[in-house]
Amino acid sequence: MTATIIDGKKTAEKIRSEIKEYVSGLKKKPGLAVIQVGKNPASTSYVNLKEKDCKEVGIYSKIIRLVEEISEEELVEKIIELNKDNSIHGILVQLPLPKHVNEEVAIDMINPLKDVDGFHPVNAGNFFIGKAGFVPCTPKGVIRLLKEYDIPIEGKNAVVVGRSNIVGKPIAMLLMMNNATVTICHSKTKNLAEYTKNADILVVAVGKPGLIKAEMVKEDAAIIDVGITRTGNLLKGDVDFDSVSKKASYIAPVPGGVGPMTRAMLLENTIEAYNNIERG
Ligand code: NDP
Repeated sequence: MTATIIDGKKTAEKIRSEIKEYVSGLKKKPGLAVIQVGKNPASTSYVNLKEKDCKEVGIYSKIIRLVEEISEEELVEKIIELNKDNSIHGILVQLPLPKHVNEEVAIDMINPLKDVDGFHPVNAGNFFIGKAGFVPCTPKGVIRLLKEYDIPIEGKNAVVVGRSNIVGKPIAMLLMMNNATVTICHSKTKNLAEYTKNADILVVAVGKPGLIKAEMVKEDAAIIDVGITRTGNLLKGDVDFDSVSKKASYIAPVPGGVGPMTRAMLLENTIEAYNNIERG
């Protein structure tokens, strides 16, 4: 069997065009502020893409580039300024931050109503108890891809490899909220293959190219590769695409799978923030 490729790029394009249409009918423009500290090349590329996406759909974007040496206090002041700015509905601090700045302090300063990344403890808490709030973009993108491709979730065995607060954990939560039976694996899991082989849906968010090989997946499983490792200009996922795509029924590749969806979900969350703020 050769897997159907889950085309995140095409799905994200469709979502962007729906957002563009929606924004064109608004009197006041939604606004997204992105703060980048320092010049990490991967961060620069992500921030540029966010700016491009906003432009495409008609969202006002304010990109704030701060020097690497900025103090935590100065960064916090900037965030407070954006919290008060009526033209801004979403605020995102591009991670990682330099070591001398505490990421938690920065995230905690964002007004939860403008926290379009969904990383603020208020949003994370609301999400955990199933209350309305922002859902982090990558996990939201993973579930949207499964739904766009009509991949059943309810009653399925879902395995998530990776348990970070911003990727693995919320993906597992969303799968559970959609009635899958979820297993979470991590670096201390013994005999990873024993778990992955049982997965009808396997989501891998680790950052180790080639971690998942064909013999570790179930015949006809749906595989979502979230991992991204950069080598020069190349992006590599965690799943050995060539072998796994011959065995799975669906596969979201890297690049072109979850990555574009993460960006599209950020636009969606910005619209959600706009609607909450402007329309109460
Ligand atoms: P983290 O480094 O925070 O988490 C990695 C997770 O993988 C940890 O839970 C770790 O376990 C686990 N892990 C490490 N080694 C193994 C192993 N050998 N077997 C099983 N589990 C292992 O990364 P993130 O969660 O932030 O990101 C994960 C990947 O997703 C990265 O490659 C990142 O670049 C990518 N990513 C992609 C996005 C996209 O849009 N496509 C967006 C965000 C991230 P432990 O907890 O025990 O340390």
